[in-house]
Order: sequence, then structure tokens, then C-alpha cells
Amino acid sequence: MPEVLVIGSLAYDSVKTPSGKADKALGGSANYFSVAASNFSKVRVVGVVGTDYQESDKKILSDRGVDLAGLQTVPGETFHWAGTYENNLNEAQTLKTELNVFASFDPVLPESYKNSSHVFLANIDPVLQLKVLNQIQNPVFIGMDSMNFWIDSKHKDLLAVLKKVNIVFINETEAKMLTQESNTISAIKKVAELGPEFVVVKRGEYGSTLYSKAHGFFQCASLPVEKVVDPTGAGDSFAGGFFGYVSKYVTGRPSWSDLKKAVLAGTVMSSQTIQDFSLKKLITVDEKSYNQLLQELHQIISL
Ligand code: AMP
Repeated sequence: MPEVLVIGSLAYDSVKTPSGKADKALGGSANYFSVAASNFSKVRVVGVVGTDYQESDKKILSDRGVDLAGLQTVPGETFHWAGTYENNLNEAQTLKTELNVFASFDPVLPESYKNSSHVFLANIDPVLQLKVLNQIQNPVFIGMDSMNFWIDSKHKDLLAVLKKVNIVFINETEAKMLTQESNTISAIKKVAELGPEFVVVKRGEYGSTLYSKAHGFFQCASLPVEKVVDPTGAGDSFAGGFFGYVSKYVTGRPSWSDLKKAVLAGTVMSSQTIQDFSLKKLITVDEKSYNQLLQELHQIISL
């Protein structure tokens, strides 16, 4: 069974959108990523939660075969993020980022994780991303995500991680912020100059763009969704589908064609996350619904 290791946040999120709100609902980049990726591969999680974290929330992952040997539970409160989406559902306004137990987290990988071939550094402090990466012996394919919070507060560390990864997932605003470019295409090209061979820019309802200097651009539409309830976690679910696909179907370094197919897997996963709060809709995806949605997407993007 192929495996993918993820470090990221396991969180309780308080989210308000035009459709309603959720208070301290299950969230966090590692949770969304793991649920999406576990449709394809064995996922190994690295992270920390407080003693307030519900056993039933851990069970959501363990029931899907996710390995939690790298998940620490320590005294204190779980990471809490509060955000709101107003007119623009493609972009969250952060109201609170309470790192809590993440503030003093020192990730030490279980021996059994060190041979992981695929590694995803989900949105979390870049210092932690780097600490995890440095403990992995021989990774084949490494990806990362981040957000404005870390671009602002840990800029230098973020640049150091970018140099070590094969692919970065970023949204349009973050790409522009990171590169100081106002044009999205120029920003994408500049992100690729910071280290990663491949860049995926997530553009919400307008889809996503995959770029590499050698191959140029691939654009993928999103699956049309009429009722976007809560976009939180869309990016992490996209990355989970993408990385799950690569780790399941690709041996060695992925080709451009492999990565284009992985974009479709990511697109399917993110289209589900946004249709309900928290992980409620994403956890209902199974092989049958995934294949149906993938077929729909193929019809939308082909001639
Ligand atoms: P996404 O909407 O895919 O970009 O990710 C949303 C998830 O990221 C939420 O569930 C949050 O708990 C988590 N999150 C928000 N801010 C941070 C942060 N500064 N570091 C790590 N995770 C975060």
C-alpha cells in the first residue's frame, strides 16, 4: 500500500459564511488532507491536539485507516481558527488564530514514518514543516501549502521550505503576496523561481492552474457547485486528492501527465468539501461517488 505523510493542523474551527455558522467544528489542514487522501492511500499524520480533542474526531481518521502514531495529545487546548467569508466565498477573513498546543509542538517522527515516500507539508508553521522534512530519509515527492498568516509572520522560514519541495499549492492572493506581483501569471512564474518545480494555484470557483517552467500551464475548471456552504478546507482537500492520486498511481517522480490527472482528483475532492460545514460532506465520498464526479469533470473539461 502506498503511503503519504502529512504534517498540518488538527483544529476546531469557528466559521461564519452567508449560509450559516459552525462553532468549534472539526477542521485543520491535516484533517481535510487526510480524509481526502485516504480514499487512495495509507496516510500518516504528524500533529498535536489538546486534551479537549474528542476521541470521536480521532476516530474519523482511524476508521479510514489513517495512521495516528505521529499524533500527540498534550495538556492544553487544540488549535482554534475563527474566520468569516463575506461576499467573496473564495477568500476567508481570519478573525482568530489561536495556536494553543501548536505553539510549543516539537514534532519527533515515529521510526515507522521515516521511510515515507510522499510528504505533504500542509498549512502550519514553516519551522515545523522543515523539522518534519528533515527527519524523512528518502522522500520521492514533497509538496507544501501555506497561507498569508505564515507569509507575514515567518517569511524567511517559508522561503527555506519552498527551496526543498517539488510542488507548492497556493491561492492567487497568496501567490501575489509572496512575490509582490499584481498579475497572477507573473506571480505563478515567480513562485516557481523560489524553488518548487511545480506550482498549483487554487482559484476557488474558477478552478486551478498547474505550472512548471518546462511544461507551461494546465488549467482545470472546477466542478460547478450551486450552493457553496463553507469553503474552509477546500485547498487542503484538493491537496489530499492530488497527493493521494500521485502516491497511489505513480511510481517514482510523477510526469507532467500524471500531475494533470492528479489535479482532477484534487478538484473532485474540493468540490465536495465546500458543500457543507466542517468535514461533513467530504467524509461521505467513496469510490463510487468519486468515479462519478471524475467522469462529470472529464465531460466539463474535454472537447
Ligand atoms: P483551507 O481553507 O484549505 O485553506 O484551510 C482551512 C483550514 O486551515 C482550517 O480548517 C483551519 O483550521 C486551518 N488553518 C487556518 N489558519 C491556519 C494556520 N495559521 N496554520 C495552520 N492551519 C490553519
